[in-house]
Amino acid sequence: MDFIIEPSKKIPVYAAADICVVGGSATGVFAAVRAARLGAKVILIEKTNALGGVAGNGLVNVWHSLSDTSGRRQIIAGLSAEVMERLESVDRDKNGSFFFNPNEMKTELDALLAEHNIECCLHTCYAGLTRDGSGIGHIFIENKDGRSAVKADFYIDATGDGDLARDLGIESYQNENIQPPSACFLLQGSAAGIDITGIIDRYSDDPALKNDWGWSCRVPGLDNITMRADTHIFGLMCSRARELTEAEIRGRRHAREIVRLLRKYGHEGENYRIAALCSHIGIRETLHYRTRFQADELSLLLGKRYEDAVLNGTYSVDIHHADRGITFRHFDGTYNTVNADGTRTGGNWREEMGIGADLPVPTYYQVPFSLLVNESVPNFIAAGRMINADTGAFGALRVMINLNQLGEAAGVGAYTALQHNIPIQAVDGAEVAETLRAGGSANRG
Ligand SMILES: Cc1cc2nc3c(=O)[nH]c(=O)nc-3n(C[C@H](O)[C@H](O)[C@H](O)COP(=O)(O)OP(=O)(O)OC[C@H]3O[C@@H](n4cnc5c(N)ncnc54)[C@H](O)[C@@H]3O)c2cc1C
Repeated sequence: MDFIIEPSKKIPVYAAADICVVGGSATGVFAAVRAARLGAKVILIEKTNALGGVAGNGLVNVWHSLSDTSGRRQIIAGLSAEVMERLESVDRDKNGSFFFNPNEMKTELDALLAEHNIECCLHTCYAGLTRDGSGIGHIFIENKDGRSAVKADFYIDATGDGDLARDLGIESYQNENIQPPSACFLLQGSAAGIDITGIIDRYSDDPALKNDWGWSCRVPGLDNITMRADTHIFGLMCSRARELTEAEIRGRRHAREIVRLLRKYGHEGENYRIAALCSHIGIRETLHYRTRFQADELSLLLGKRYEDAVLNGTYSVDIHHADRGITFRHFDGTYNTVNADGTRTGGNWREEMGIGADLPVPTYYQVPFSLLVNESVPNFIAAGRMINADTGAFGALRVMINLNQLGEAAGVGAYTALQHNIPIQAVDGAEVAETLRAGGSANRG
């Protein structure tokens, strides 16, 4: 690679705030809102035209249940519950999952920021940072006004990939399985009862789509439209610029091919069309950044409890294999795998590992605040899918109902550090958990 030296120049300071959140999915928005409710002045930077991340521009419109696996005890509340109350078009299934319209999600998150006087900068990309001792001094942003800087006392990285964590040189790693991305789209025309996977395998000339599997779901309030996530894009790392571009283009090609096949082999008389393409490919996993605590699958599935728990969750370990196939592992020990060749295997991990056969089956898991605490940068937290988690724990924690809670914890943690004028490493996780509870999060027993 060639290099040039960028000439130094004077640039304006665009804004100053107590806390700057970079990334506007619900993770980032919830971090911003929780901090603002405690009294912080907050600014949020988002590179696209809309809030919501994968739930907005990515079109993924399912948040999982607020209850434990018994369905009788609410273990998640806070802003996830508030937002589900506010949305106009929401359906729930028998497991308590919420289905929403991603366009409504975008406008509701806009409203939430406005109500809390949080400055929202759309079409604004984070582009680097300056150091102030061991902390962050300024960040650079780029938007229609050109290049400028934002000054804050604390920074929250909710970029998914961990762009600030990367520039800070925090140690990163890749899990042995990196879950592949999918480009979702909205399909006009009913595909009910149609085996799209089978049609692709039989009739498509594009090998990239074959031997895969996917899912789809309704979009509340829209007639004859479904959200499709039928395929994956394999072998690309979406935290690399060129591979991200290729993934986007391949994803659109998949959508076009599926609709072409449906028009030929779908229900007669249906007017199959792409109603909307995702405006950002759905990225499941890229890099992870080290913090004081690494979430591990066994502790989650055995329901380990923490005094400073900032997340309660029930979503099972769900690993989309990097080379096709999927594995689920559950609290009760059962697991199922759909292999790349379509064959199925399963069993009981508790029995096979000789672990936990005598222990009660938990109804939810927890994660402590230290998951968010890095070792070296005093005014920084990263929250989102870049979390420090092994392959299995990431498979469970990666869903939005979980990351939403980590966003809320990041906002409260940042505020607590500023309030006490201490580095994030000195913040008492139990105090953060108590502030979260007082602010509407569920009890963490
Ligand atoms: C196809 C697919 C299906 C899924 N299905 C489900 C499901 O059914 N239910 C569920 O709960 N979860 C599901 N997940 C997982 C879940 O959606 C993601 O793990 C989660 O949304 C990640 O959240 P995040 O906040 O870390 O990142 P993201 O949602 O990716 O948000 C990151 C935000 O940061 C912004 N950003 C990034 N870089 C910069 C920058 N340099 N400057 C400014 N802004 C920046 C992005 O534009 C984006 O808005 C799915 C994921 C995929 C990909």
